[in-house]
Amino acid sequence: MTTQTQRIVITQTGGPEVMRYEDAVLPDPGPDEIVVEHTAIGLNYIDVYFRTGLYPAPNGVPFTPGNEGAGRVTAVGGEVTGLQAGDRVAYVGPLGSYTRHRIIKADIAVKLPDTIDDETAAAMMLKGMTARYLLRKTFDVRDETTLLFHAAAGGVGLIAGQWAKHLGATAIGTAGSDEKCATALDHGYAHCINYVSQDFVAEVARLTDGAKCDVVFDGVGKATFEGSLDCIKPFGLYASFGNASGAVEAFNLGVLSAKGSLYVTRPTIFAHIATRALLEETANDLIDVVSSGAVKIPIAQRFGLSEVAEAHKALEARTTIGSTVLLPNG
Ligand code: NDP
Repeated sequence: MTTQTQRIVITQTGGPEVMRYEDAVLPDPGPDEIVVEHTAIGLNYIDVYFRTGLYPAPNGVPFTPGNEGAGRVTAVGGEVTGLQAGDRVAYVGPLGSYTRHRIIKADIAVKLPDTIDDETAAAMMLKGMTARYLLRKTFDVRDETTLLFHAAAGGVGLIAGQWAKHLGATAIGTAGSDEKCATALDHGYAHCINYVSQDFVAEVARLTDGAKCDVVFDGVGKATFEGSLDCIKPFGLYASFGNASGAVEAFNLGVLSAKGSLYVTRPTIFAHIATRALLEETANDLIDVVSSGAVKIPIAQRFGLSEVAEAHKALEARTTIGSTVLLPNG
């Protein structure tokens, strides 16, 4: 029984206008697959990279963007166990979530407890599992840790600030406006530097009495790379996990010795959820901190799926705060 649906399609990479809303027909799920009717879809900065072509879509064009969704299972393949029609699920997965219904492999779906509503799930899975691996895998953040987190008022940033505080760390954030800094301070950050009006390197030195940070988490990239290295203690870590301002350019590794034997890593969420065991470890930890109230998921923007171009414009114009969800029925 095929499913009529609507989805976004990109036939040529470019600006927000390349995303077209169209009718589509979904085939039946394969034996190890399920059909999910989305009630909410997560908007992530990675969606911009695929839309512009900075990250090439693995199978080329045409493609449907989006790597995250939440909703209700409407059909399951013959070999699927543990899931049935009617279950509420969320997932992070391959491209293709900007659609009302989609087929996914059953083993990427996470069943949602009653404590997590669908919009929260769509707003937290990709960003929250990213915050989780950054703070608990990329660096073992503890109460003695001082960390710097760029774009602290963004989707990943607001989750990371609360989680870092929950782990006992001192989190310093950066953000592009005083309003964003005020929001970051309400979400776990001990300090927030407006890096548009202030020199964040000098401010980090001042706030830490010259001691600097154990680790810098940088999803901004090109604009913050150089200054970030000056915010790290000897033997500390620079974790580059995104390129909102552009990709970090090639650099001389000698700079890491000059700044005190620094470490650099460039992690991705997809390696951290590549097996069912890794996914469950990561997702369960996230669900626990959200269910307990230690981490709240602020959704400050909602757009209808057919208005996704406006959502991308807002994200790229730096006018969003926290998470943004796309509503197929909005
Ligand atoms: P955000 O909500 O954080 O939006 C990006 C933010 O980056 C903006 O709000 C803005 O905040 C800041 N920014 C700084 N310079 C620019 C610029 N030139 N253009 C646009 N934005 C800029 O997005 P997400 O929470 O979705 O993602 C945050 C980062 O994390 C992204 O780089 C994303 O790609 C990365 N990421 C990486 C993952 C991984 O596993 N490697 C997984 C998930 C996300 P401000 O105005 O305060 O500067």
